[in-house]
Amino acid sequence: MSLLVQKFGGTSVGSVERIKAVATRIAESKAFGHDLVVVVSAMGHTTDELTGLAQTISNKPPQREMDMLLATGEQVSSALLAMALYERGIQAISMTGSQVGIVTESAHGRARILEVRTERIKKKLEEGQVVVVAGFQGTSFSSGGTAEITTLGRGGSDTSAVALATALNADACEIYTDVPGILTTDPRKVSDAQMMTTVSCEEMLELASLGAAVLHPRAVEIARNYGVSVVVRSSWSNEPGTTLTSKSKRPLGREGLELGRPVDGLELVEDQAVLGLSHIPDQPGIAAHLFEKLSNGGINVDLIIQATHEGKSNDITFTVANQNLPKAKEISESVIKELGGNLSTQSEMAKLSISGAGIMGRPGIAATLFDTISRAGINLRLIATSEVKVSCVIDAKLGAKALRAVSEAFELNDNQVLINPSIAFNGEPEVRGVAMDSDQAQVSVRRVPDKPGTAASLCSALAEAGISLDAIVQSERQHKDGSRDISFTLKKNDRQQAGNALGPLLAQWPGSSLEDGRPITRISAVGAGMPATAGTAGRMFRALANAGINIEMIATSEIRTSCVVAETDGIDALQAVHSHFQLGGKKQYEAKEF
Ligand code: ADP
Ligand code: ASP
Ligand code: MG
Repeated sequence: MSLLVQKFGGTSVGSVERIKAVATRIAESKAFGHDLVVVVSAMGHTTDELTGLAQTISNKPPQREMDMLLATGEQVSSALLAMALYERGIQAISMTGSQVGIVTESAHGRARILEVRTERIKKKLEEGQVVVVAGFQGTSFSSGGTAEITTLGRGGSDTSAVALATALNADACEIYTDVPGILTTDPRKVSDAQMMTTVSCEEMLELASLGAAVLHPRAVEIARNYGVSVVVRSSWSNEPGTTLTSKSKRPLGREGLELGRPVDGLELVEDQAVLGLSHIPDQPGIAAHLFEKLSNGGINVDLIIQATHEGKSNDITFTVANQNLPKAKEISESVIKELGGNLSTQSEMAKLSISGAGIMGRPGIAATLFDTISRAGINLRLIATSEVKVSCVIDAKLGAKALRAVSEAFELNDNQVLINPSIAFNGEPEVRGVAMDSDQAQVSVRRVPDKPGTAASLCSALAEAGISLDAIVQSERQHKDGSRDISFTLKKNDRQQAGNALGPLLAQWPGSSLEDGRPITRISAVGAGMPATAGTAGRMFRALANAGINIEMIATSEIRTSCVVAETDGIDALQAVHSHFQLGGKKQYEAKEF
């Protein structure tokens, strides 16, 4: 007999009929003799409707009241499901997040789970009851002990489920949803997307944070950290679905279930060179042309960063191993001869990276890294961020100094620090899945001073306001006064607050300004085999070029390549990249199945 946590999403409990069907399904599991904890989302679009209701009353409702309101959605579905189970003769009890003992931080609307007090739920399970839990919510306690209802953030019921499975040491956590499992991309956008039997937590963490809404990224983070067995499968069929695989497994610590130590690795890769092409034409096919030539020349490119500028021209910066610099330079020069533009190169550079699943959603971590490096008087040449890794390229002569400072700042011990690790081919595909995020906005800060600490102070100001950045790109070119531009993408919802947060900094930088780019979509390819496969980025750029799509920004990190394209090109770009990497296949799922 096993203890299972089963989670049913909004569509799966979207109507009375569906709640009854879910109850039948649960009854079948119960008949097998399993102990069951069932987590539910609010019915259908309830959370959106409640949010809309609040907006009709206030543009900026207090976060506390939003949580009071939104938490009711899950309370309705949990009570109805418990009733449906009773009708089938199954002993069941519904519980709110607070009753079930989910204790969170006090941050309304995005609270992280600190612990699950399992006494009450265990008692109910011992009595043979099915415990039906309202997902997406918890309780925070003030220092005075006052309890407040909190919510975990949109899509957070997955996180409730995986956290409960962790705390209860459940045999498995099953996420039942309206698709057959995790596919190579969103099957609603690309009809020939294929099912994955398994996917690693690292890959899924990137995919989920880059737009694959099928799992809440924080649920994947918990599964990764504690090695919980998670399966995503269809609410309407008995197909086995997709299993998440995790290498690490740590015991529950005292730091807080979702907190833990955010950074657990530090890496320095020496012997790097940076090549910067500036003032090259901004039109489809340029990046593809350059990186294909490099790949044909046998050169493995590591980080790639690109942003467009005023006057519609592009800068592309990338890194290669020092030994490849002469060849990479020759190829870049030939491209510049054809297309125009300037080339700068720097040898003797180093890449320093911190890694850890807890970096996600905590912008303060990247800010601390940049700040630590700039306090050591070291300039950041390039920055690359992902959900589990933040890298920066610095002068190699200062590598050891930076390594010491960063290792101290994050309290890492020697066996967490790697110098020049080798990249082994692990047999994993270069691209496992493709995600699309239409929830991002593109912003540039024009004319920031070119000195250590600029990027750090920008990131810190945003981090203090709780805003995470993606694709931070410092321009190659300098204005006549020596200043540069820094472009980045952030969540659309954070745009206004970012303006407020950056106000005081901009006031210190004469002539600087914040500018909005046009509406964008971010397309990302993710694969654990990417670091060991040459030419992946070039192939992605070729896919977009062949579809006539212009790339506005490029940002890469270890296992992902993201391209920002015009919002109107989003779906075409997703389809083009998906099919170029031959991820499609026989059309498997008709839309009506969902
Ligand atoms: P639930 O209400 O069950 O939590 P969600 O709407 O949050 O469901 O997540 C399921 C949806 O995620 C699917 O309907 C699908 O459109 C979308 N999705 C995005 N990317 C993927 C992917 N790679 N695999 C499967 N589904 C995906
Ligand atoms: N009902 C919440 C939402 O729509 C939580 C969830 O469904 O996971 O975001
Ligand atoms: Mg969901």
